[in-house]
This record gives sequence, structure tokens and C-alpha cells, in this order.
Amino acid sequence: MIIVLKRGSGEAEVQEITTRLMEEGFKVHLSQGVEKTIIGAVGDRTRLQSLDLEALPWVEKVVPILAPYKLVSREFQPADSTIKIGHHEIGGSEVHVMAGPCAVESRSQLLETAHAVKEAGATFLRGGAFKPRTSPYSFQGLEEEGLRYLAEAREETGLLIITEVVDVRDVQLVAAYADVLQIGARNMQNFFLLKEVAKVNKPVLLKRGPSATLEEWMMAAEYLMDGGNYNVMFCERGIRTFETYTRNTLDLSMVPALHALSHLPVIVDPSHGTGRWQLVQPMAKAALAAGADGLIVEVHPQPDKAVSDGKQSLTPPNFKVMMEELARLSAALDRPLKGVEG
Ligand code: PEP
Ligand code: MN
Repeated sequence: MIIVLKRGSGEAEVQEITTRLMEEGFKVHLSQGVEKTIIGAVGDRTRLQSLDLEALPWVEKVVPILAPYKLVSREFQPADSTIKIGHHEIGGSEVHVMAGPCAVESRSQLLETAHAVKEAGATFLRGGAFKPRTSPYSFQGLEEEGLRYLAEAREETGLLIITEVVDVRDVQLVAAYADVLQIGARNMQNFFLLKEVAKVNKPVLLKRGPSATLEEWMMAAEYLMDGGNYNVMFCERGIRTFETYTRNTLDLSMVPALHALSHLPVIVDPSHGTGRWQLVQPMAKAALAAGADGLIVEVHPQPDKAVSDGKQSLTPPNFKVMMEELARLSAALDRPLKGVEG
């Protein structure tokens, strides 16, 4: 349920309602917009009647949120969420590109890629240090050594770091190095991991599960917000369908659907979404045209030698060409590409 306060309501009014709600066992979340202050209350709705909040002079209305997701919904927060990360902002007037290898393979591979993507205009460096692999015999990641290389690359280039955390036991370690924590598709409904990540004061990129519905995905984001982490971004990375030509089916309709239902930013991953590097640039463009707030793209200096996802990785020159194309498109969309002159 949301409690919309009248214009001009101040801290004292918010405090009074918060106290009353908490006494009745509600969890309270505040959304302070420029226009309106909205208090979100999650708890037993039957206890609401006794509070009679609508009788308070500074309450405009009390509205139940009928959807199962509450804090994630546009009703709770009508204005777009913007997520401040370092000196960047995701979900604002500019779009961002996060780029880098699927996996951190070595110091030289990472640093070379980092310099190349920075030069082409990326603002974030991606790279997995813990890799969720289909086969237990595949490369599992350099773990903390990989995190150290990511931190070194940040030092050298100024790029912010996004990297995946796969296990509750590693949350603190990964958070000590990363600027953004990535929850991988296979872990979207690992609720214990979501709860741990929610406790950390780091933005989260929540990938869509390979067979997750929109509602299940939004409920996963709800776990993060309910746990206290409001800096959540969705990431569409394709879903499992009958099609085998592409690795996954990139469901770009989720971009406007999420923007309609939720205030959180939406990022698109055309690399995992297609599995073929030739399709990455066209789908990246389509994602921006659909309103994505950013992209996450795999880049490798030698894709044919990559230990994972070489087929979907762009070479640095191809990445540069894509960024130039995207800059032109995003200028036309009136949503400049951060890091590149349009
Ligand atoms: C990745 O980003 O390298 C990755 C493993 O992605 P996903 O979780 O979407 O499969
Ligand atoms: Mn990958």
C-alpha cells in the first residue's frame, strides 16, 4: 500500500505516519519525489483500518498496490530512479555502455581490453572473476586474483567495475572490489544470495533468469529493495525459446514493459542475448531505440582464444565501430551516449 502525502508535508508528518505504521508491524519505505512524498508500507493490510490514515489532514490518499511487487513498482515511485555510481548516473539523461571480457583470464588480457573499451567510450568495465559455467570442467574464474586485476584496471583507466557474485560466501569479498554487483541469470531466483546482496551498499545489476517471467524478475528485484538496497538495475539478456540459431532470444519488449511497470533502470545485454558477435551491434541499436538506459557488451582482444563466450565477443576495433554508430543513434534519440562525442 502507498500513502501519498499532500504537497508541503514535511519530515514531522512523515515521521508520525512512519511511527504509527511501524507500531502496527509494517515495513516502511520512503520515496521522496520532487512533486510528491510517498510512503510505501508493506505488511498486514487488515491492520490498516484501525490506523485510519486518510483522516490525517496531510494525507492525500491511501492506495493499495495490487501487484505482488511493491517497492519496484511505478506506483510506489512515479519518477524514474537514477542510480549514482562514482561520477556517473544510470537511468538519467545519458546512456552508458559497460564493456569487457566475459571472464577475467589474465592481467594482460584484462588491461588491454580495459584500455580499448575506455578509449572507445565505455564507462564501466565488465569481467567475471567467478564464472557460473554449465560444465564443471570449464574454467571457473580467477576469483580474488581476477578481482585484483579489475581494481588495477579501474586505477589505470578510471572505468568503474561491474562483476558477478555467485555465492553468498563471496558477497563481502566481491563488494570490496566492485562498483556494481552483477547477479547472473542463473542466480536470479537465488533468494538467499539476493538477501545477502541487499545488505551491501553497492548497486546491483539483476539479470533476467533464462526462463523467468517479467513478474518473477520483478519479484527478485523486490527482494533486493525490501532488503534495503534501492540501487537496482534490470538487465535483459535473452530467454530460452525453441530457437537455436541464437543462443537466447533477446526479449526487447521487456524494456518498455519494465519502464511502464517499474521506476528502475533497464540495461540490455546483446552479447548473451544473441550469442553471435555479428548480431551484437544491430541488437544494441534496437535496445537503445526501445529505451534501454544502457548496454553491457562482451569484448575480447582475441575472441577465438577466449576461454568463454568468444563467439559473442567483439574485437576492440568492432567495439569502436559499434560505439560510433551508437553515439549517432543515441544523439538522434536525444539520449546522448556517455563517454562518446555524438
Ligand atoms: C556474464 O555476464 O558473463 C554471464 C554469465 O551472463 P548471464 O548470467 O546473463 O548468463
Ligand atoms: Mn559471458
